[in-house]
Amino acid sequence: MLMRLSQEYFPLLIILFIKLKIIKTLEDFHKTRSAYGQISFIPTMGNLHNGHLSLFNTAKKLNKPIFSSIYINPLQFNNKNDFTKYPKSLDEDIELLESQDCECLFLPDESILENLEIIKAPSKADLLCGSHRPGHFDGVLTIVNKLFSIMKPSDAVFGLKDYQQYLLIKEFSQSRKLPINIIGSKTIRENNGLAMSSRNTLLSSDELQNASEIYKSLLFIKNNANNLCKDIIDEVRKSLYKKGFEVDYVSVINSITLQESLNHNNEEGYLVAAIAANIGTVRLIDNLFI
Ligand code: AMP
Repeated sequence: MLMRLSQEYFPLLIILFIKLKIIKTLEDFHKTRSAYGQISFIPTMGNLHNGHLSLFNTAKKLNKPIFSSIYINPLQFNNKNDFTKYPKSLDEDIELLESQDCECLFLPDESILENLEIIKAPSKADLLCGSHRPGHFDGVLTIVNKLFSIMKPSDAVFGLKDYQQYLLIKEFSQSRKLPINIIGSKTIRENNGLAMSSRNTLLSSDELQNASEIYKSLLFIKNNANNLCKDIIDEVRKSLYKKGFEVDYVSVINSITLQESLNHNNEEGYLVAAIAANIGTVRLIDNLFI
């Protein structure tokens, strides 16, 4: 009798012990979500690394169940090749999320693109990365807004590595008066300084070594904080070119306006050194508060 019962209940026992709920449809998601009060939310595109996991450490401090999503958002890629070769590792991602006390992983399918409110990002989105990736931030805000409306989180954590993205989402959320606390979490780096990124897996070991030049360049700018001038920025740009990078931008910007700014001038905000550069077809970005 006991034997038969345990056999019957075995699948249920497994479900009880696997804490991470993995949900693929909106209908199932709404059912699960309704069992929770306030939650923290961490959206990702998967191929998780320690940079992503650090967002969970930030979220854990908020003491709310953590919900995450993995969705490679086609709307934010303006290069089809970049989209199709975006690295994927769902099985490993799920294992990592289980180790992070993640309560629920939402894996939306393409139906998330139905009945979309298309968001037009403000003019700040045309600077820096936006000037090299037209429409990128419209795509980011459109999907983040949709995910927010599904998740209804009280907090959402984003990496400061993607500083322009973080700022645009924060300001979008404020402008819509969304009751969501947008939290920026510090950039996690490899030992050589290279900011962790899913795209790093597309680099050879030599390229990985070389990619640390981006961080070294940011440090060089920061170390010259007291005498920043156009020549220093030009020097950094040229030196990156010589090392084989195709540079999209090397800029020192104001953290609020995102406009180029080489000194504080009693402005509000901070100075941020920001670089986007390509090694072959792999585009890397990083920044450092000065
Ligand atoms: P992604 O999967 O690339 O869309 O990134 C999901 C989130 O992880 C975004 O908020 C990123 O800013 C953040 N993130 C990615 N890499 C890092 C990193 N090295 N350090 C901190 N946050 C990161």
